[in-house]
Amino acid sequence: MKILVANLGSTSFKYRLYDMEEERLIAKGGVERIGSSESKAFVESSGTRQDLTIQAKDHAVAVRLCLQQLTERGCLVNAAELGAIGFKAVHAKGVSGVQRVDDGVLAAMEAYNSVAPAHNPPYVAAMRLLARELPEIPLVAAFETGFHQTIPAVDRYYAVPREWANNYGVMRHGFHGASHRYIATRTAELLGRNDLRIISCHLGGSSSLCAIHSGKSIACSLGMSPQSGLPHNNRVGDFDVFALPAVMEGTGKNLDQILDELANKSGLLGLSGFNDLRDIEQAAAKNDVNALLALDVFIGSVRHYLGAYLVAMAGAEVLVFTGGIGENSVRMREGVCANLSWFGIELDPMKNVAAKGESTIHSAASRVQIWTMPTNEEIVVARQSRDLLAGAK
Ligand code: ADP
Repeated sequence: MKILVANLGSTSFKYRLYDMEEERLIAKGGVERIGSSESKAFVESSGTRQDLTIQAKDHAVAVRLCLQQLTERGCLVNAAELGAIGFKAVHAKGVSGVQRVDDGVLAAMEAYNSVAPAHNPPYVAAMRLLARELPEIPLVAAFETGFHQTIPAVDRYYAVPREWANNYGVMRHGFHGASHRYIATRTAELLGRNDLRIISCHLGGSSSLCAIHSGKSIACSLGMSPQSGLPHNNRVGDFDVFALPAVMEGTGKNLDQILDELANKSGLLGLSGFNDLRDIEQAAAKNDVNALLALDVFIGSVRHYLGAYLVAMAGAEVLVFTGGIGENSVRMREGVCANLSWFGIELDPMKNVAAKGESTIHSAASRVQIWTMPTNEEIVVARQSRDLLAGAK
C-alpha cells in the first residue's frame, strides 16, 4: 500500500510518499504559495529533483498536480494506487486517535479552531476541500493527542470545575504525539527493551517534554492547547491566566488581541525579539541580555519538566533530544543537563559537540543514557493510516 503523508499550511502543501510494504520513502515534494499566480511545486525521487512554477488556486489543485507529477515519474501507477492521504492533525473536540476524515471529524476540529488557532483552521479548510474534490482518496487524520490518551488522571486534570472537563474537554491533552511515539518506538528498538522509562525532549519551533513508560505516554508538557508547556518560538507556554485582566487594563486591548499576542508574539520571540534559536544564540554570544534571558527561561522550563518526569517515573533509563533545537543546539543540551549527576544524568562534552543523527552523548559514568535522535513524524502517520485502513477492510 502506498500512503501520502501531508503537511498543510494555509498556503502550502508538503508531502512524503511511502511504500508501506517495506516502509520505504519513495518521494517527497510539495507546493508553496498556493493561491498565487506563481505557485512553486517541487518533487524529489530516486535522487533527482524537479521544480516547476505553476498556478495552483487552492489545495485541491496543488494535490492533483502533485499526484500527476508522481505518476509521470513512475512513483505511482495512477492516483487510484494511493491507499490514503494521512494528516498529522492537531486537535479536535471529543475526537482523538486515528480517524477517517468525515463531516463529524471536521466539525470536531472546527470546534477547537480557537484552541489551536495556528493549526486547525488551515487543516480544516484544506481537508474539507480535498474531501469534496478528491472523494476517491481516503483521508486519514492521525491526531497529535492520540499518543497521550494513556496519561493518567493525576496528570490529565486541571483543578477547575469538573463540568469544564466533561463538557468542554478542558484538560491536558498533550501534543507532538507522532514525534514522541516515534522516539518511544525507536529507542525501544535501539536498546532492545520494551520496559524503558524515557524522557523525550522534542525541542523545535514548538517544544514539549513527554514522560514515556513501557512505550506509553504518562505525561506531556503540552496541555489543553499547543500554546502551553515550554516556551515555543512565538507561543507563550505556561502562563498565569490571572495576568490577563492586568494586561487588558494596561494596554486597552481586548481578549482576542491579547490571545493573538500570546499565540504569535510571545515565547522566545517575546523575550528576545528573535524567532529562531540560531539568532538567539548568536545574539547571546554578543551578550545581548534579552537573548541570554530567553535561553535561561527556556532551559529552566525544560529542567522544570525534566525534574517532574524523573519524579513521576522514579527515574529514567533514557533522555532523548529531538527536533531542530534538540538535535542541533549543543548549548541547549549542555544547559539542560548541567549539574544533574546526582540524578544519574551526565553529558560527555566532546560527544555532545560531535553528535549527529542518532548519537549517544552521555559520559561513561552516567546512569541515564542520553541520545540525540532525529524524529520521523511522517512514518508514524503513514503507519497509523495503513493500520486504520487495514482494520477497516
Ligand atoms: P518545527 O517545530 O517547526 O518542525 P524544527 O523542529 O525544525 O521546527 O525546529 C526549528 C528550530 O530549530 C528553530 O528555532 C531553529 O533555530 C532550531 N535550529 C535548527 N538548527 C539549529 C542549530 N544548528 N542550532 C540551534 N538551533 C537550531
